[in-house]
Amino acid sequence: MDAKITEILVCPLCKGPLLWNEKKKEFYCRSDMKAFPVIDGIPCMVPTEAREMKEEEIEELDKNELYRHYSCSLSQHPSAQ
Ligand SMILES: [Zn+2]
Repeated sequence: MDAKITEILVCPLCKGPLLWNEKKKEFYCRSDMKAFPVIDGIPCMVPTEAREMKEEEIEELDKNELYRHYSCSLSQHPSAQ
């Protein structure tokens, strides 16, 4: 998924930033605990189509998020170019 797309997308409910769930290939809002599916490459931002997320799921994604940022900062290090 293009990183630029994830920066533009906001939650239709709270207008907060949406995060990307690589494992399930869907966007999710952390504060609303809702996941939005991507159908045929197009994010479906319809609140009624959103999936309820469990607290454990959010916690698990938080761990992955930290890991992803860590690996990103490594690959973008100036000395790597
Ligand atoms: Zn939200």
